[in-house]
Amino acid sequence: MNFPSASHSAPHWRGFTPMADFDELVVREGQGCWLTTTDGHRLLDGISSLWCNVHGHRHPKIDAAVIEQLGRVAHVTTLGMSGETTEILAQRLAQITPGDLAHTFFSSDGSSAVEAALKMAFQYWRQCSEPQPEKTQYLALGSAYHGDTTGAVSLGGIKYFHQLFAPILFSPLRGPVPCTYRLPAEVSSESACDFYTQQFDAILRQHHSTIAAVVMEPLVQGAAGMITHPVGLLANIRRLCDQYNVLMIVDEVATGFGRTGKLFACEHENVTPDILCVGKGLTGGYLPMAATIARPHVFDAFLAPATESRQFYHGHTFGGNPLAAAAAIASIDLIEETDLISTVDRKAKHLRDRLSVLGVHPNVGDIRGRGLMVGIEIVADKTTKATFDSADQVGRKICQAAVQRGVWIRPLSDVIVAMPPLVATDDELDILADAIIDSIRCSLPVTKTAPEALQCSSPSR
Ligand SMILES: *Cc1c(COP(=O)(O)O)cnc(C)c1O
Repeated sequence: MNFPSASHSAPHWRGFTPMADFDELVVREGQGCWLTTTDGHRLLDGISSLWCNVHGHRHPKIDAAVIEQLGRVAHVTTLGMSGETTEILAQRLAQITPGDLAHTFFSSDGSSAVEAALKMAFQYWRQCSEPQPEKTQYLALGSAYHGDTTGAVSLGGIKYFHQLFAPILFSPLRGPVPCTYRLPAEVSSESACDFYTQQFDAILRQHHSTIAAVVMEPLVQGAAGMITHPVGLLANIRRLCDQYNVLMIVDEVATGFGRTGKLFACEHENVTPDILCVGKGLTGGYLPMAATIARPHVFDAFLAPATESRQFYHGHTFGGNPLAAAAAIASIDLIEETDLISTVDRKAKHLRDRLSVLGVHPNVGDIRGRGLMVGIEIVADKTTKATFDSADQVGRKICQAAVQRGVWIRPLSDVIVAMPPLVATDDELDILADAIIDSIRCSLPVTKTAPEALQCSSPSR
């Protein structure tokens, strides 16, 4: 396959894309887990169209729901009024989200859902029954990623994405990266949860009186490179937030809607955050919609007549769009009708079993993730866990090799991401795994004397 390179006249400026140096891929249509390009190549959608697709493309039920909504109204505002379908979705979200999360504020993308959460937490501490207006800071994790708008970038801790913008950002308090792969030498995997909990405890003990909220991704830090947290850390941070009277904002934009094997990742540790952010999978990956969902004690701080001016000073033109709401309701219906979430663990095991042959490859440092959210970290040296020079573009080359094998994946630096739609069949998971395995073997060849399982099967493609 030969894809033409883009030129500098490109009218479409793409996100996170080196515009002088990328393979031009334009999709004409999708069906299930597959995409067809304008020049007729079929590609397996191995990253769910950037982690959002749940039921595959062009699912008849979601298509029908959107078309039906189009026959009524495409858009109405949620400032002051609302659409009927949007109301139904808000009720549905109150039912399916953990604990007493019950009040949904809609926006159009994950970054905006996080921005809304930040402002909500800030305003909450000025208006709650025992106001603490000095709570104006946030505690974020190391290597955090919460989106690309300026507030979300301020929370962010990924060097490549965030450092450049430092002069225009606010500074959160920064916790550790609670990573299970690169543990400090003195920490065992058994003691990792306690180790990181103590670090968060120390920061909160010292600064709680000025902290409005802890903001974190649960279990897996996606964009950071599918970094997995020690089991139990999420529940421990919930306890610390209660102890120190700090709100807990959990960003489930990536992990929500079944990705990790539960509807919400928080359910793995029986955690109910004070504010939950969802996005990506909310509409089944169909339309731009995100949500910031609060518990009653948060909402109540804003509940007052007009004369008191306590309303939330925030609102997006397209927040709660009825077409997106119709897609979201259809997607949630489908998740329930097909019992989709109960299939995720088995599929995840199938994918991980297939990928496990890579464990002996000298450049595969770690294969990790939760559910159908998998990262394969490529390293220059397995013992020291040293990375390749970023100029080597190892992750990018492996993913380009996968495209040659009919599978669309996109790396996070040198972490290869496998994140197929939750409906992927075993055959599709095999195609995904085979392409990744062969692309890694052929991009990082071993000596001819190494075991056959490590040899590239298609070196000349
Ligand atoms: C993708 C993502 C976001 C940002 O969502 P957008 O819709 O791209 O703005 C925020 N948080 C997490 C955890 C994400 O994975």
